[in-house]
Amino acid sequence: MSFNLPPLPYATDALAPHISAETLEFHHGKHHNGYISTLNNLIEGTDLADKSLAEIVKTSSGGIFNNAAQAFNHDFYWQSLSPEGGGSPVGAISQAIVSSFGSFAEFQAKFNDCALNNFASSWTWLVKHADGSLNVINTANAATPITEEGVTPLLVLDLWEHAYYLDYRNVRGDYLQAFWALVNWQFANENLAQ
Ligand code: MN
Repeated sequence: MSFNLPPLPYATDALAPHISAETLEFHHGKHHNGYISTLNNLIEGTDLADKSLAEIVKTSSGGIFNNAAQAFNHDFYWQSLSPEGGGSPVGAISQAIVSSFGSFAEFQAKFNDCALNNFASSWTWLVKHADGSLNVINTANAATPITEEGVTPLLVLDLWEHAYYLDYRNVRGDYLQAFWALVNWQFANENLAQ
């Protein structure tokens, strides 16, 4: 068994002008696809070949972990964005944000601060802990919160430069504005309910 590149949940031009079709074509078709094909090569003929992606992420290290985790993180990232997204949170996630951060504005400020100060190739996540509280965390390289017991990812922002360099060069703050225009609160609510 091998993994296939999951299709984007929208057309490559659907997130423009915030994220361009050129960025999505490269990011999905080259970067995400590259992690999947490298992973397939690494696990071929091993006892990992019949495991789920999440199982591989939770039990592997080195190159297999890096490529499996990047495959998982990218699938989660595409779903964290939507052409119908952006604006203020709706539903249960709205109340959970107020409970944990005080207000949506305070949550946004914390998320922006974490993302702007997340060094090098990295990810910024909104996560839920086992007690129901929310937090914003940073991970580096391929690291992902699903390796931690009791931590459930709700949303993620890809901060590798390949995610925004074509559209915003090195200006991460402008890319953050794009994220807030696209953030998929419905996906966050689905994850919150788990
Ligand atoms: Mn990426």
